[in-house]
Amino acid sequence: MWKMSTEALRRRALSGPAMGSRWSVLFHAGGDVDETALTSRLQSAVDRVEQQMSTWRPASDLERLNAAPIGLWVEIPHQLAHVLATALEIGRLSQGAFDIGVGDLVRAWGFGGGARMPDSGCIAMLAGRPSFEPPKTLQLDPAGCRARRLAPLRLDLSGIAKGFGVDELAREMREAGLSSWLVGIDGEMRAEGTKPDGRPWTVAHEKPTQGEREILGVLELSGAAVATSGSYRHQIEVAGRRLSHTMDPRRGAPLENDLASVTVLTETCMAADAWATALMVHGASEGPALARRLGLAALFVRTDGEVVATWP
Ligand code: ADP
Repeated sequence: MWKMSTEALRRRALSGPAMGSRWSVLFHAGGDVDETALTSRLQSAVDRVEQQMSTWRPASDLERLNAAPIGLWVEIPHQLAHVLATALEIGRLSQGAFDIGVGDLVRAWGFGGGARMPDSGCIAMLAGRPSFEPPKTLQLDPAGCRARRLAPLRLDLSGIAKGFGVDELAREMREAGLSSWLVGIDGEMRAEGTKPDGRPWTVAHEKPTQGEREILGVLELSGAAVATSGSYRHQIEVAGRRLSHTMDPRRGAPLENDLASVTVLTETCMAADAWATALMVHGASEGPALARRLGLAALFVRTDGEVVATWP
């Protein structure tokens, strides 16, 4: 078989807007790759995920489901059905720590615009909100590509959609015939194959410190995905307090615990994304115990700087 020498391969970097951030792709290829066509193909894949799963777009399929009358079946695209099914499964395995019924909490605390501290009556009401217990609150028929809400809970897929977007980039790269690449959105990454010199793709693991960009270590990635959830990222400041955008579903309020970040390494980025949030909610002692029980490769950085790894 004719094989291109590594000298003929040129490093390519493509990127575009995605979910309030950027998607990016790195790979090596000869001169026969049409970068413009590939960029538009990757952009369409990311746009499709946003059009289906964004809570920021009133016309997205998820918002259509959120706006539909309680009890009414709504037809949804198969990717959205697949992500909802995965989210429900991770919700179950994480004992409710990953909870896509947090939409009202996210809105009430002002993530999504207009940061505010709800008054004490509203906080009590949010804490006592019906818990998200599918199938009592959400019924999903993945085979028929339809879903219906059975309680007035606002669904929010922001804790998993970005990871799924990375998986879609990966699928497009494969379908374009490329076998070695590093793809990502906003620090959530997935890699396949190796670089032309045979070495794995590497991803820097940032120290979870506010306002600084220090490196804790470097992860080698091949045939795997990685995502990090951290109280140091995406915070908002309300009345002098810094609030995490991760919600503690049990308390009905922004998460406050002894973890600074959780990084999860799994096969799909969708699972890594959701599990990073779920383990973050479980905290520094329950989180590693659950990760070990489920065989998840995770790296926990505590707020005191101590690192706990459940890398198998
Ligand atoms: P991070 O990378 O910091 O974990 P993500 O972007 O993965 O953040 O997800 C955070 C978003 O997920 C929040 O903005 C919110 O919309 C949603 N979310 C917050 N708490 C939860 C939770 N406990 N379970 C599922 N989704 C959540």
